[in-house]
Amino acid sequence: MGKKRVLVGYGIDVDAVANWINTCDGSPQNPTNVSRGVYGATVGIDRLLKLYAKYDIKATFFTPAHSIESFPTQLAKVRDAGHEIGLHGYTHEHISQLSALQQQDVLTRSIDSLTKFCGDKRPQGYTAPAWSTSKELISQLQAEGVAYDHSFMHHDLQPYFAPDNSETWVETNMAKSADAWMMPMTKLKPSKVVEIPANWHLDDWPPLQPIPGRAGAQGFVDTHVVEKLWLEQFDFAYREYDTFIFPMSIHPQVSGKPQVILMHERIIEYINKHEGVEWMPLCDMAKEFLEGRMPGVEVEGGVDP
Ligand SMILES: [Zn+2]
Repeated sequence: MGKKRVLVGYGIDVDAVANWINTCDGSPQNPTNVSRGVYGATVGIDRLLKLYAKYDIKATFFTPAHSIESFPTQLAKVRDAGHEIGLHGYTHEHISQLSALQQQDVLTRSIDSLTKFCGDKRPQGYTAPAWSTSKELISQLQAEGVAYDHSFMHHDLQPYFAPDNSETWVETNMAKSADAWMMPMTKLKPSKVVEIPANWHLDDWPPLQPIPGRAGAQGFVDTHVVEKLWLEQFDFAYREYDTFIFPMSIHPQVSGKPQVILMHERIIEYINKHEGVEWMPLCDMAKEFLEGRMPGVEVEGGVDP
């Protein structure tokens, strides 16, 4: 076993009411759901700030511009405590459903809003709402000078340069002859945007946020089960890699709940027992990779046509 270097951090999807009012077709949202977002922006953020102060952790709060503009006092507490504020859409739009122009308009407006809020400091990172991405995303982020993304899943424990999404694949379409789709994916080409990968198995929402009627959001999982799932991933990584990153994704409206705060205390204390652990916001993980102090990996795949 070599000398360990482990970069651990929290990416917090602030969301607030934005994810609830993103109904896509303008249909009205149930005010009780909106109140869950208010809870996240107020009670949830306050409890997470207290947790991070207790363990001296700086984290990344991915914040829809709608949340900053609707809860400026709460987000000022986050900013003034020295946490990173990253991009997360305007109203938590699922960009896979937007045109390229709508995506660009949302990105431009959110960058403006966050830049103003952070004293003329441009945001360095982005995570796609619901990790629902598009072919245009990486090139738009690169053109805007956004250093890193946290939406893709080519790896789970290593940083890398995100593929530029120029690769092509052919979806099956059974209305056509089989020859129409039987061809390989073209070669992945790296962009200049660092990927700090996303991971549904390190996300509090699916197991711990009940949404009646929606599969995958049952929400009533024992936090000790979730803790075990997360820490087993950490144990495997610590056994298999001398250097790795461990970004966890959480939401104030989920992780601000009493039973989940207690889970995070146990997780942080367990991780802190390991040599070589450094807590940092995701922008610093990206910087460690860009400046050559964290090797990361190269994503390979596809073939030249
Ligand atoms: Zn979100």
